[in-house]
Amino acid sequence: MDHFLSPKLVSLRSTVEELTARVIMPNADRVDREYIWPAHSMQALAKAGLMGLQVPEHLGGHGQGLLALSVIAETIGNACPSSALCFGMHCVGSAVIAAKATVDQQEKYLRAIARGEHITTLALSESGSGSHFYLPETTVTLDGDHYRINGTKHFITNGGFADSYVVSAVADDGMAQTGDFSCVVVDKDTRGMEWLQPWRGFGMHGNSSRGLRLQDAAVPRTQLLGEEGDQVWYVFEVVAPFFLMAMAGTYLGIAQAALDAAGEHLRSRKFSHSGEALRDVETLQTRYAEMWTSVEKTRSLVREAARRGDMGDPEALPFILACKADAGDTAVKLANDAMTICGGMAYGENSRVSQMLRDARASHVMSPTTDLLKVWTGRSLLGLPLL
Ligand SMILES: Cc1cc2nc3c(=O)[nH]c(=O)nc-3n(C[C@H](O)[C@H](O)[C@H](O)COP(=O)(O)OP(=O)(O)OC[C@H]3O[C@@H](n4cnc5c(N)ncnc54)[C@H](O)[C@@H]3O)c2cc1C
Repeated sequence: MDHFLSPKLVSLRSTVEELTARVIMPNADRVDREYIWPAHSMQALAKAGLMGLQVPEHLGGHGQGLLALSVIAETIGNACPSSALCFGMHCVGSAVIAAKATVDQQEKYLRAIARGEHITTLALSESGSGSHFYLPETTVTLDGDHYRINGTKHFITNGGFADSYVVSAVADDGMAQTGDFSCVVVDKDTRGMEWLQPWRGFGMHGNSSRGLRLQDAAVPRTQLLGEEGDQVWYVFEVVAPFFLMAMAGTYLGIAQAALDAAGEHLRSRKFSHSGEALRDVETLQTRYAEMWTSVEKTRSLVREAARRGDMGDPEALPFILACKADAGDTAVKLANDAMTICGGMAYGENSRVSQMLRDARASHVMSPTTDLLKVWTGRSLLGLPLL
């Protein structure tokens, strides 16, 4: 499968593998147990020059696309899914800013991101529209050379730790049609921002997912992304593909970790009464083979989706939509199977395999959710509009 990967991507991946082994993996259990935002991972990735993965090369970044994002997220997700989620959301936010950045935005955000001095993230979701993240109720009002933003976002990954937030909002002039909304970059410490209580997830304990109330938050007009009201373009051309590939990579990483944990236990476990090794049990050989097949099938779909997306293939859409749903299903199934194969220790509270199962479960509720993606995949294959 690696024949898809350019020499540059292979080199970026080996840098991340080294960081993962040295910094990210040794702290993964602490991230989960203590619900800590993985500053160590983000700092290590910044120091190694990885934060500008999606920033164009002429602005100091790596100018990489969907394939690189999925491969790097997979590598990190294999060790610490919370770190992969935090890094992934930063990359999606960077790609959204980069899509139509003005010269000011290139200088202020993209160069700083490429230098590893700026973390960004998406603040789209709201409790009212829930998984329909493209239907904000937060409002934006033009007031001289500023926009005033009012509303409440929820579940913002990197919440309170990022330097900027890509916030979606709808014009409050009563003229906006469904789906007409704008995105503005809101800097941390903007007056009118109030962080709500940290939210503790069943899994992904380190992602610092929080609600944010914006009350007359004043944002310079220069921080509008693209044109007023044109954000459905961003949602389907940038947010969705980059988000789906970041998450598909993360869940593929979890699935691989579950396969590895199962393989390690099968190879090492021996019964004292008989001397029989677990790997000699035929039922478990079959189960392990099925697990391996699932991971390889999912990896093929993720790589193919990313490759087609990067090439601008007009047939890419169903691949991109399907691959995050598939990676989520595979991760949940494999973590569940690994728990069966690894037995009582794996079922123990906070065991590594139980962390995998909890983290993998986020896939079904993070929008576009698994159910929505399956509906959209079917609609796109049948020639129907997604929405
Ligand atoms: C760990 C985590 C991190 C997150 N990070 C971010 C972030 O950084 N930025 C951000 O903006 N948001 C983020 N979110 C929010 C996320 O993307 C979703 O918006 C949110 O989880 C869904 O919200 P809800 O609980 O209101 O679900 P609901 O909208 O109530 O949906 C409940 C269920 O109904 C299903 N459903 C709803 N409508 C349909 C339909 N028409 N067809 C089929 N099924 C349907 C959904 O798929 C879902 O399974 C995060 C969420 C989590 C859990």
